[in-house]
Amino acid sequence: MLKDSYKRPIRDLRVSLTDRCNFRCFYCLPHGEPPIAPKEQMLSFEEIDYVCEIFVALGIEKLRLTGGEPMLRRDIETIIQKLARLKPSGLRDLALTTNGYYLPDRAQSLKDAGLDRVTISLDSLKRDVFKRMTGVDVLDKVLAGIDAAKKAGLEPIKINAVIVRGHNEDEVADFAAFARDYDVKMRFIEFMPLDSGHEWAREDVVSGKEIRDRISERFPLVRVDVARGSDTSSRYRFADGAPGEIGIIAPVTEPFCGACSRIRLTADGQIRTCLFSTVEHSLRDVVRSGASRAEIIEYIHSVIMKKEPRHFINDPGFVAPSRTMSFIGG
Ligand code: SAM
Ligand code: SF4
Repeated sequence: MLKDSYKRPIRDLRVSLTDRCNFRCFYCLPHGEPPIAPKEQMLSFEEIDYVCEIFVALGIEKLRLTGGEPMLRRDIETIIQKLARLKPSGLRDLALTTNGYYLPDRAQSLKDAGLDRVTISLDSLKRDVFKRMTGVDVLDKVLAGIDAAKKAGLEPIKINAVIVRGHNEDEVADFAAFARDYDVKMRFIEFMPLDSGHEWAREDVVSGKEIRDRISERFPLVRVDVARGSDTSSRYRFADGAPGEIGIIAPVTEPFCGACSRIRLTADGQIRTCLFSTVEHSLRDVVRSGASRAEIIEYIHSVIMKKEPRHFINDPGFVAPSRTMSFIGG
C-alpha cells in the first residue's frame, strides 16, 4: 500500500493521455495549446501500461484516463484493453473523463475494450452559453454522447460542470433537474486557478455553499456521505427519492486535502503529487534510464513521500502552477 508522509493512503491515479484538446473552455485552455511537445517526450501506450501495472501492484485501485481530451488519442481502446487486464491484480475502477464529443460514435467500443464508466463535462444546457464557455457549438453532440454512454452501460455516469460567476450559476438547479431526469451523478466544481489564460479571480468562484443553496431551493437534498473517505465531493441525494445524485467539489472554499488519495501522471510522464504542485517528478526518465522494477518502485515511494500536505490557494503568497489543467490531467 502506498502511503504518503501524512499517512494518507494513495489509491487513485489519473493518467493524462494527451495535452491536446478540441475544445477551448475559457476556464481551462482559452487560447489553445502552446506548441505541442515532441512525440518522443510523451509516454507510449506500452510505457503507460508498464507503469500502471506497477502502480496497481503498489495498491492503486482507481485509474482514470484524462487529458487534454483523451479521446483525441485515436487508438484509446488499445490502452483501455491493456489496462483492463489489471483488474484481477487489484484494479477496481477504470474510468475516463471526456468532453463527450466523440462518444456518440465510440461509447460502445470503449465499453467493449473494458472501460467501466465515464465522466462527461457539460457546463451548460443552453446552446449559446455552452458555446461561450467551451468555444465550440456542439451542445447537441455532447448530449448525444451522454445518451450513447448510457446505452453502452458506461455507468454510473458522472457529469462535471464548472460553475463560474456570470456564466452558468443560474443553471445550477436546472442541472439538478437534469440529474433527476437522466439518472446521472451531477458534479458541480468550483472554478480553480488552473486556467491557461491566468484570468482566474476569486470573485468568479461560485462557492459550494451557494451551489447547495441554489439546488435546495428547488429540490431539498439529503447528505449521503457522512463519512466522506477519500471522495473529493460532498454527495447528496434528493429528499423526495428521485433518481440521480448531486456532488459538490469545492476545493477553494471547502478544501479536502486531508483525505486526498490522488496522484497524477502527465502525458509526458511526470508524476504530480497535487493539482497545485510546483514541482514534478520524471517517472519517464527513470523508466527510460533502464531502471529495474525494484528501482522504479523505490522511486515511486520516494515521490509519494513528497506529497504536499495541502494546496495553498487561500494563502496570501499562493502561486499557481506553471502547468495548467489541460496539461496536468484534470
Ligand atoms: N477534456 C476532458 C474534459 O473536459 O472532461 C478531460 C480533461 S478536463 C481538464 C477535466 C475536468 O477538469 C473537466 O471536467 C473540466 O471541466 C475541469 N476543469 C478544467 N479547468 C478547470 C478549472 N480551472 N477549474 C475547475 N475545473 C476545471
Ligand atoms: Fe479541453 Fe477538457 Fe480543458 Fe475543456 S476542460 S479545454 S474539454 S481539456
